[in-house]
Amino acid sequence: MTTNAGQNASAPSPLDAIADEVLDGIRERGTYRRMRVLDGLQAPRMQVEGREVLLFAGSNYLDLARHPEVIEAAERASRDYGCAAGGSRLITGNLACHEALEADLASFFGREAALAFNTGYMANVGVIPSIVGPGDVLISDELNHASIIDGARLARADVAVFRHGDVDSFTETLERVRPDARRVLVACDGVYSMDGDVAPIAEIVKRAHDHDAIVLLDDAHGTGCLGTRGRGTAEAAGVLEDVDILMGTLGKSIGSFGAFIVGSAKLRDLLVNTARSFIFSCALAPAQVEAARVSVRLVDEEPWRRQRLAENCDRLRAELAAEGISTAPSTTHILPVVIGDNETTMAVCERLLERGFYAQGIRHPSVPAGKARLRITPMATHTESEIDALASAISEELQAARD
Ligand code: PMP
Repeated sequence: MTTNAGQNASAPSPLDAIADEVLDGIRERGTYRRMRVLDGLQAPRMQVEGREVLLFAGSNYLDLARHPEVIEAAERASRDYGCAAGGSRLITGNLACHEALEADLASFFGREAALAFNTGYMANVGVIPSIVGPGDVLISDELNHASIIDGARLARADVAVFRHGDVDSFTETLERVRPDARRVLVACDGVYSMDGDVAPIAEIVKRAHDHDAIVLLDDAHGTGCLGTRGRGTAEAAGVLEDVDILMGTLGKSIGSFGAFIVGSAKLRDLLVNTARSFIFSCALAPAQVEAARVSVRLVDEEPWRRQRLAENCDRLRAELAAEGISTAPSTTHILPVVIGDNETTMAVCERLLERGFYAQGIRHPSVPAGKARLRITPMATHTESEIDALASAISEELQAARD
């Protein structure tokens, strides 16, 4: 039988055939993914697929997404402005609250200007092509986030990759590419999202500037959590004023949604005029903007959240180490327990879920093949006994998987 479109009803449609071919390959490689359904208030304890579990897999590290003042700000903004910005920033979507958020961020980071983006992904794919293009070079850490890699692709710049976190490899790369390149942009994550280690940003900034290269720091995970005042990896390393382009996100520790760039007023102007992901997209909704403003203030006013997060992570690290389980190279609030193969990793993840702990199993392509792992992200508000219970459960499940 043929359909109106002339397709044979028993054969898969061209689209289904593509989906089958690609998904079969993904299943064969053991990297098929599905989305789990979570429900209820963002909190250390949540409903995951109908079961109440302790959440060790989120990015709401400081537990600000449910802070009463943050929720109040979002409610108020929706009442005052409505639920949408109603346009892109350059047309009708530039609301007073966007400008206020950017002024707050510029002041918090002690820089001239800030510009909001809809996501960290969009910030990176917008900023990189605004700075470099064909004939230029992006120097990139080998473990940089996908959005930096995709930004480089859109820029059509040459990419020179250095060994992860290796200052010597970075310096060699810089010295090799600099003489022939028109412009050089160096990009690195602040806190690496799958390993929880921190970029040697002070050395990178110094060497880059010695060679007239520009530095983009993607501090999606460091923002709010590192540095005395929560201004991230650059603050902790003492180079907050020296990073040329600092990207932070609002959807992780800030407990809202969106992202931002801070830097010079000229940088902001350049991005407003050239960053395509900024120009051609509807602006952030007012509720998210006002929630983020309150949250950024709370990051500064409630340092106990940052301290408790670090204490919880140190406790978990120590408890796992006592059981012979490494979380290297993490020094932060993202703790990997590398298991290796995909199947065992996902089986351990499922067993933990059944026991009431959600620590996400991560496989290739998010991490290198053969380095599948549990990625554990405690929150500031987990209790010590919850941390201890997780450590024991991981230890028991890893032992069971070995037997
Ligand atoms: N950079 C890094 C290092 C990240 O981990 C992420 C989020 N996973 C992003 C950028 C993208 O940020 P967003 O989720 O706001 O798009």
